[in-house]
Amino acid sequence: MNKTIPVTSACDTPSKQSPWLNVNDALERMTSAVKKIEASETLPVREALGRVLAKEVISSINVPPYANSAMDGYAINSNDIPASGEAALKIVGKSFAGIPFAGEVQPGECVRIMTGAQMASGSDTVIMQEQVKVDGDTIIIGANHCKNENVRHIGEDIKDGDVVLQPGQLISPAELGVLASLGVAEVTVFRPLRVAFFSTGDELRNVDETLEEGQIYDSNRYTIYGMLKKLGVELLDLGIIPDDRKAIEDTFLQAAEQADAIITSGGVSVGEADYVKETLDRLGKVDFWKIAMKPGKPLAFGFVNEAVFFGLPGNPVSVMATFYQFALPTLKTMMGLKSIKPVVVRVPCQTDLRKAPGRTDFQRGILQYNDQGELVVESIGMQASHVLSGMSKANCFIILPQDWGNVSAGTLVDVQPFYGLMT
Ligand code: AMP
Ligand code: MG
Repeated sequence: MNKTIPVTSACDTPSKQSPWLNVNDALERMTSAVKKIEASETLPVREALGRVLAKEVISSINVPPYANSAMDGYAINSNDIPASGEAALKIVGKSFAGIPFAGEVQPGECVRIMTGAQMASGSDTVIMQEQVKVDGDTIIIGANHCKNENVRHIGEDIKDGDVVLQPGQLISPAELGVLASLGVAEVTVFRPLRVAFFSTGDELRNVDETLEEGQIYDSNRYTIYGMLKKLGVELLDLGIIPDDRKAIEDTFLQAAEQADAIITSGGVSVGEADYVKETLDRLGKVDFWKIAMKPGKPLAFGFVNEAVFFGLPGNPVSVMATFYQFALPTLKTMMGLKSIKPVVVRVPCQTDLRKAPGRTDFQRGILQYNDQGELVVESIGMQASHVLSGMSKANCFIILPQDWGNVSAGTLVDVQPFYGLMT
C-alpha cells in the first residue's frame, strides 16, 4: 500500500557542500541546548492552572479518608449473607454523607446508607436498595451477594505518603481537583517563561494600516501570538521592526534583556536584504540552518546574550510548522515540562499526496471520522507555504518521512493534531 514513487527534483535538494539537518537532529540540538527555568513561586492552587509543578506533591491523607458506600442501599455484615434462600435484617439506623452512624452493626442488623456515606462500624458490605425488599423496619436480602460489594476502601485512590504529582507536571483542571482532594491549598510552580517576538521586513504593515503597493499585512505576529498565548507564557510583542540596522540591534538587545526567549519571523533565508542575519552574527551565537523539512527550510537557532533565539522563516505556513515542530517542544523544555512530545496518530490517508523524497513533509490535513466511523485524514489540497488559509482549514499535520515520495490513497500516515498545544 505504501507506494513510494521516486521524484527527481530539479533544484532544492541538499548538496554535499551544504548538507541539510534532519528534523529530529535539529530538535535534539535545540532541546539539549536550553536550560529549564530555575525560579519558582508558591501560589494558591487555582492560580497555578496552566503552570508547571516545580516540587513534588506528597499526600498527607488517604483518599478516600474512610471506607464509604458506592451506592444508595443498606450496610450489612457479610456474615449475614445467606448461603441460600433469603435473610431478614433489622434496620437499626442510618448513615448519610457527612452524618455517619454512631453505633455498631450487630449480627442480624443493617443500616440505611447513602452514596459517599461512611461505612458503619461492624459493616463491610453494601446491598443496593434495588436488590432488597423492605418490610417496615426489616429488609429481606437474597444469597447472590459478595463480601465488600459496593464499598469504596480507605486510600483506594491515594494513600497517605504517596507521591501524587511529580515536578514537571502541567497543572490542568484534573490536577486542581486532585490537589483539592488532598486538602492542599498552595503549590510550588516554575515562574512563567517570558517570550519576546517581533516581525522584520519593510513590506509588513499592521492590521490598522492601509496597504500601499508592494506591502502585506503582518500575519506572523498573530499566529505566533496565538500559539504562545495557548502555551501560557508571558508575552512581549515588540511589533514590526523596520529594516534598519540600529532598530534591529536595539530590538534584539531589548528582547534579550527582558525575555527568556526571542522569536522572530522572516529574514533568515540567504540573500535577505535586511539586517537580521548581520546583527545576529555580531550580537549572538546563532546557527543558520537548512532543515530537511517542508514547509520551513531556513531556520536560525541560538542565543542572544542569555536569551534563546528562534529565527523562524517568513512564510506564514512555515512559521506555524517550525513553531510546532521546534519552538514548542523547546519552550516546553524551558518551562520545565516533563512531557514535550506531541500526540501522533497513525490513520489511513484518503487522498493521494504529492511529495518529493529528501525532506520531511508536514502537509496540512483534516482528521475526521468517515461514514464507517473510522478515523481518517485527507489533504486540504493546495500545500504552498504562503497559503495561510490552508492552516485554518486544516486541523493537523500529515507527517511524511524524509525518504518517502508520492503517497497513494489508502496509505497509513502519521498525523499530528494542531489542537492541544500543551498536550
Ligand atoms: P523572508 O524570509 O523575510 O524573505 O520572508 C519570506 C516570505 O514571508 C515573504 O513573502 C515575506 O513577505 C513573508 N513574510 C515575512 N514576514 C511576514 C509576516 N510577519 N507576515 C506575513 N508574511 C511575512
Ligand atoms: Mg523579509
